[in-house]
Amino acid sequence: MKVYDNDIAEILFNRDEIKERINELGVQITADYNGEEVFVVSILRGSMLFVADLVRKMDLPVIMDTMAVSSYYDGTETSGKVKINKDLESSITGKNVLIVEDIVDTGITLKFLLEMLKVRGAKSIKICSFLSKPSRRKTAVDIDYIGFDIEDYFVVGYGLDYNQKYRNYPHLGRLKEENIKGLGNVKRSSNCFRFWWSI
Ligand code: 5GP
Repeated sequence: MKVYDNDIAEILFNRDEIKERINELGVQITADYNGEEVFVVSILRGSMLFVADLVRKMDLPVIMDTMAVSSYYDGTETSGKVKINKDLESSITGKNVLIVEDIVDTGITLKFLLEMLKVRGAKSIKICSFLSKPSRRKTAVDIDYIGFDIEDYFVVGYGLDYNQKYRNYPHLGRLKEENIKGLGNVKRSSNCFRFWWSI
């Protein structure tokens, strides 16, 4: 995509590789739920493109709802505080919930979400994340389905943003460091950006 090409250092996964991996996830999820209805909870805004493609590969009855949350950071370290900006519109009691995330980084957002949803009486709760950065984990979270494990890079595209840009970039790309304002080393300092990240 010409408009963003100069900002991207490297394409980590192109649109065909993403499509292929989502096909595989769809097959796996379809088999695991064995015809049961799935209540898909898409975490806004980063998972919008991923969830749209994923549910079309799930050969199952699917209900969809959304939640929006934001994480707060003080300086370069997470404060561990997560705020709900938009809650679910329907009840998950008795449902098979599948949380769909864009990326699990420290795991703090997901842990908070899980604790919040666990008390609402779901039949089951599973997690599907497009990406995971295992080296950055600060709290253990079990992710049932992972699209791709990645290194500690700041990535954009396929729904993921930097300052709300790049969500419509069709591939998953590593942003050039000079495009990330205020910091010299993206890899080391990616925590700092989270203050501005809305999920
Ligand atoms: P966690 O609570 O796991 O540390 O943070 C997860 C959230 O941080 C994600 O939902 C996403 O919004 C944001 N995030 C973490 N790493 C990246 C990244 O490399 N790129 C983008 N665009 N967002 C990220």
